[in-house]
Amino acid sequence: MNKFYITTAILYTNAPPHIGFALELLQADVLARYNRLVGNETWFLTGTDEHGTTVVKGAEKHGKPVEEFVDEMAGLARKLTKILNISNNDFIRTTDKERHWPAVIKFWNELVEAGGLYKKKYKGSYCVGHESFIKKSELIDGRCPLHKTIPEEVEEENWFFRLTKHKKELKQKIESGEFKIVPESRIKEVLNLIDDAEDISFSRPVSSLKWGIPVPNDPEQTMYVWADALTNYISAMGYKDNTEQFQKFWPADVHLIGKDILRFHVIYWPAMLLSAGLPLPKAIYVHGFITVGGEKMSKTVGNIIDPFALVEKYGVDPVRYFLLREISSAEDGDFSYKKLEERYNGDLANGLGNLVSRVATLIENNMDGELIYDSAKRKAQSVKLEGYEKAIEEFRLHDALGEIWKTVADANKYVDERKPWLEAKESPERFLETIIVLVSAIHDVAWLLQPFLPETSEKIFNIFDAPQSETIPEGHSFHVKKGKALFPKFS
Ligand SMILES: [Zn+2]
Repeated sequence: MNKFYITTAILYTNAPPHIGFALELLQADVLARYNRLVGNETWFLTGTDEHGTTVVKGAEKHGKPVEEFVDEMAGLARKLTKILNISNNDFIRTTDKERHWPAVIKFWNELVEAGGLYKKKYKGSYCVGHESFIKKSELIDGRCPLHKTIPEEVEEENWFFRLTKHKKELKQKIESGEFKIVPESRIKEVLNLIDDAEDISFSRPVSSLKWGIPVPNDPEQTMYVWADALTNYISAMGYKDNTEQFQKFWPADVHLIGKDILRFHVIYWPAMLLSAGLPLPKAIYVHGFITVGGEKMSKTVGNIIDPFALVEKYGVDPVRYFLLREISSAEDGDFSYKKLEERYNGDLANGLGNLVSRVATLIENNMDGELIYDSAKRKAQSVKLEGYEKAIEEFRLHDALGEIWKTVADANKYVDERKPWLEAKESPERFLETIIVLVSAIHDVAWLLQPFLPETSEKIFNIFDAPQSETIPEGHSFHVKKGKALFPKFS
């Protein structure tokens, strides 16, 4: 038995969770559920990043004390994991003074001891939106390319992290594949980022950043986001006390992140770990952004998609299906209600829902709902298992779903071709063969769907009283009750 430890990035609590975070949770959930299914001891962590000036501003905007505001935002993030049926084992908050803070302080002290931190006067362009210094070379017309604001000129004395010391080792680990970046197409970009990387500011004066973790033995300074937030991946696992849990699960097998925080996860975090003498995560999986009607989501455009409203309207599995199928795992993808409803009616209602309903009806009407499994009558291997597994292992979750839906389409076509409603009257032997092939296909689909659409998968197992095992045991008796439609047509 192998272990599998996966994390999402932690949600920044300056605003309620958006659909991008929903996508990240879903992708991580599929990987976690898949690993449990194949028997790996799995741990899935998510949580919230709650410090920093932008959070304080968010609280002010809502007229709330910051503690109350972050409680509320973290509550919403948790609620999102529930309504999306996310199977996370733990949820860490960076304001957690019992679990998180002591671990961060220990980590900071380890860096100091290793000579990884030093104090330095620094002058530069500071983007408030980024909450960080931004290089002059990154500005476009003197403005931050992301926030479109003119950065402030700031001079401060801060703690700096000796990142440059680890550049060579980090490059070597990426080039050798020991530290994996998925998709591989990003490796070149990452190596360039490492070449350009400099030592980074690791703290801010208390006067400009109050809402954070104090630097040990330096009351004038607050830790900046790097040591504060990235460490959640180890604090939640018991790094402080070097628990069994930590020893078993660290290093993480996958940190799943958005492309906007690539640099932090492929350079800053691993360099910090190298400095503290800890092993690096095995892989960083990078997903893209969701656009809406081809545009970036933003408050000013008013095109932000609320994941709560989406689940309310369409149900959890249709939302899971759409986001995981429509959006290529490692690339940008576009959201639209039209596409969602097309996928719903096409793939779910007319595809899977129709298949399940047709086959269940045939068994109810012609066999009193009873079917004994006889593998000799099964003609074909229905699901291309290899393609499915390979797709999941290569972080092409959309393709894994594509493999399943090929089977759904083949099975529906098979019904059309064999016309089992005629076979039932004219050739019971042939009818039985057809039904065994179809029930086998449905069983396999339900089995492989478990990581993606756990509720739907469960419903299908229940409709057919099918065995929840990878293969159907010889002689298994199915008791079929069609019940309600899996996906009532959406009009
Ligand atoms: Zn900015």
